[in-house]
Amino acid sequence: MKVVGGLGEFGLIERLSKLAPGASELVKGIGDDCAVIRVNDTLLLATCDVMIEDRHFRRTTLSPQDIGWRAATAGVSDIAAMGGSPLFCLVTLACRADEEIAFVEDVYRGIGQIFAEYGIALAGGDTARTSGPFTLDITTVGQVSGERCLLREGARPGDMLAVTGPPGLSAAGLHALENGHEAPALIAAHARPRPRVAEGQWLCYSSAVHAMIDVSDGLAQDSGHLAEESGLGVDIEPERLRPSPALQNYCREHGLDASALMLRGGEDYELAFAIEADAAEGVVTSLNERIGLGAAVIGRFTDAWRGVRVGGETFSESGFDHFR
Ligand code: ADP
Ligand code: MG
Repeated sequence: MKVVGGLGEFGLIERLSKLAPGASELVKGIGDDCAVIRVNDTLLLATCDVMIEDRHFRRTTLSPQDIGWRAATAGVSDIAAMGGSPLFCLVTLACRADEEIAFVEDVYRGIGQIFAEYGIALAGGDTARTSGPFTLDITTVGQVSGERCLLREGARPGDMLAVTGPPGLSAAGLHALENGHEAPALIAAHARPRPRVAEGQWLCYSSAVHAMIDVSDGLAQDSGHLAEESGLGVDIEPERLRPSPALQNYCREHGLDASALMLRGGEDYELAFAIEADAAEGVVTSLNERIGLGAAVIGRFTDAWRGVRVGGETFSESGFDHFR
């Protein structure tokens, strides 16, 4: 019997996508952070993300409010990755009959907190009983205010790769939570990630920015998606990829490899984007001045080869895949 594990997450999606139709109103269907749908003069964005207990989170390491906040983060970040703003969400909840009401309410309080912060309305959802793990699936709908949104495709040869902030903090925060270490800044990055909605919109207004993705599965893997969708290769320059002081100290203290966390760690929800070489340093500097992040130029796109390289060496170990 053939099983999905052998295909991997992206191989499975590729096969399934051939079995149901798209539509002409779809500006972009499967293959980006959001689906893009033209309705009259507006570009609507839609995305959904599931969060399953003991797969995506443990209630032993995260508070119920943090679980709720994080469940909504992925969709809000996917909207940010298109340069859009989130409007409303539908929340599907599956839980056991003997689940504590207080737990479920606290999860919803966390969802309410991120919705309040980003001006998102709870528009509905669905509820079901399960004998399996506690599961939240959140559909997020948003829109683009300008004429265009930023797709993963569109990077050009010679473009630089840049990020809105330092990667690897969330992975280190999870390590700290699981090992009972004190590291408040890293734990906050994991428990309360802040999707870069304002930054994504600001980048979308700049014609020098050609493509964008959010870093949910790991910097190397997600930069690879930008390159692949654009028909290019991307070289991440390790000397430009500097760990934040908190990450550097934590890794030194606990014998961890900061570069591995920065390249492979997922769920940072920073934005990675392709930008014209001439404009890259200026845009990153004004991003840092305006918003005060650790934005940086970290690599370059090329048409000489495909895939992801780090310092010129092929990077083969990928980031997160649900079936691998
Ligand atoms: P992200 O990490 O940004 O949330 P994913 O890697 O989850 O993106 O998804 C990549 C693309 O595949 C998206 O366009 C998503 O809508 C699509 N996709 C994922 N799972 C399925 C599925 N089961 N059926 C159809 N499309 C899917
Ligand atoms: Mg995404």
